[in-house]
Amino acid sequence: MRQSELFTKTIKEVPKDEEAINGKLLVRAGFIDKVMAGVYNFLPLGVKVLRNIEKIIRDEMVFLGGEEVLMPSLHPKANWEQTSRWGSYDSLFRFTSYYSKIDYVLGPTHEEIVAPLAKKFIVSYRDLPRYIFQIQNKFRDEKRAKSGILRGREFIMKDLYSFHRSEKDLDAYYEKAKKSYAKIYKKMGLGDSTYLTFASGGTFSKYSHEFQTLTPAGEDYIHICDKCAVAVNDEIISEQNACPNCGNKKLREEKAVEVGNIFKLKTKYSVPFGLRYKDEQGKEQDVIMGCYGIGLGRLMGTIVEVHHDDKGIIWPESVSPFKAHLIAVGNKKSFSKAEKFYKELHSRGIEVLYDDRDVSAGGKFAEADLMGIPYRLVVSDKTGAKIEVKKRKENKVELKNYGDLRKIL
Ligand code: ATP
Ligand code: MG
Repeated sequence: MRQSELFTKTIKEVPKDEEAINGKLLVRAGFIDKVMAGVYNFLPLGVKVLRNIEKIIRDEMVFLGGEEVLMPSLHPKANWEQTSRWGSYDSLFRFTSYYSKIDYVLGPTHEEIVAPLAKKFIVSYRDLPRYIFQIQNKFRDEKRAKSGILRGREFIMKDLYSFHRSEKDLDAYYEKAKKSYAKIYKKMGLGDSTYLTFASGGTFSKYSHEFQTLTPAGEDYIHICDKCAVAVNDEIISEQNACPNCGNKKLREEKAVEVGNIFKLKTKYSVPFGLRYKDEQGKEQDVIMGCYGIGLGRLMGTIVEVHHDDKGIIWPESVSPFKAHLIAVGNKKSFSKAEKFYKELHSRGIEVLYDDRDVSAGGKFAEADLMGIPYRLVVSDKTGAKIEVKKRKENKVELKNYGDLRKIL
């Protein structure tokens, strides 16, 4: 892609209405744009990052046997009354149709839709287990939305729901899902900073699990056990004051953001909707459920919180909008050399952003640092037949010929 044709431009001034680093950098670099508190436009560069995150998550869900569906954002009130959450879910967006005076909900999560849906297809033990997931927009009336895209009032979530014959079957699947979640964070460059965290399981199981990434931008506190590299959240620490894994009482408190949550729902939502199956003896049994959520926008924001410096974003290659940022500076000859490189890289299927604009070298470099693409390639009057290569996360600059470049790109 030619930068001269890009829809967005970078912004020099730090936006006054953004408090969090992710919000400031993503707005300035042209990945997102704020519509109002907690609501953002995702711009072409931002959508590219989201799609990369989405692919990593979708591949892992398919690996877990997940089948993709797309459920609506608009929910009938009756389903939420069925589970008593119409009155008790704090951040529920409720509204009334102007014409029919019927009440609706904008979905903050989908147990109320997925359980009656599953009831239409799950009849006998032969229909179990089943796993369905979606990647879709959620709505929550969050009290505070000051953390950039870490906390949206509208945000994209992947939610997977599993349906089982027995708790034993749920337990085994839950452990598999835990591993898949850890793989997802690792692939996105969050492996070292993300902890499996014990959280409250509600009335149905002792624990649920969160995945919490360490960052000062987080709104949660977690308590890390350095002996077994797991953590506990605030709720659990106030109940038991020790690591649930090994009993260690010396826990280290850190700020973190919840980047995922897995939960054994058991029969919490199957009972209200009569989601049952016939076992081998023909006896009716409640279906056992689990749910598994990940926020895609929150992940994108978290990656920026973890991977940036004072100049801008430093995207891990796996999610970066482009692999390389090719920059032409100097005279006409340099531009035509860069043009040739661009075409060659392009023809090899490498995603390149080519800065072909008539802008000063300093300006181009500053913008490239802000945007955070992993490899910067410069063609100038000084590089001759070669090309200058610099990784965004390193200071080392190397001159390479095109053949050498093929080894890294
Ligand atoms: P939090 O405690 O941070 O409000 P939650 O526990 O209410 O989150 P869940 O209901 O567990 O969130 O949602 C599953 C996942 O969706 C979370 O782990 C997080 O990654 C993401 N998520 C939740 N709320 C938001 C939000 N307002 N904006 C962006 N992502 C969110
Ligand atoms: Mg949660």
